[in-house]
Amino acid sequence: MPKTPLEVKVGRNYIREWTIADPKARAADKAARKRASAKRLKAEQAALAAYLERVKWCANGCGQLAALGEGNWMGCCSEACFWQREEAVKVQADARRARLARRQG
Ligand SMILES: [Zn+2]
Repeated sequence: MPKTPLEVKVGRNYIREWTIADPKARAADKAARKRASAKRLKAEQAALAAYLERVKWCANGCGQLAALGEGNWMGCCSEACFWQREEAVKVQADARRARLARRQG
């Protein structure tokens, strides 16, 4: 048997009219949205902190602080590290290109 409108749970909205919207369900939805928003904010803050930590150190992975500001080496600590990383990236790109070519037949 389908519910008639009178059997549907009713509540009062904020202007004291009867409504079929259940205030408890609406409050639960609102709380869930608030929780999701807090979770999202926390995740964004964690991602930002991780990014700042990642860019703080040399991109070549030598363990030194990256040079910042004027005369920086694209996230590396020195010119030597920059060119070493450049070479590594080129090797990776070549390997990837070769893999793709092999897959295409
Ligand atoms: Zn370095």
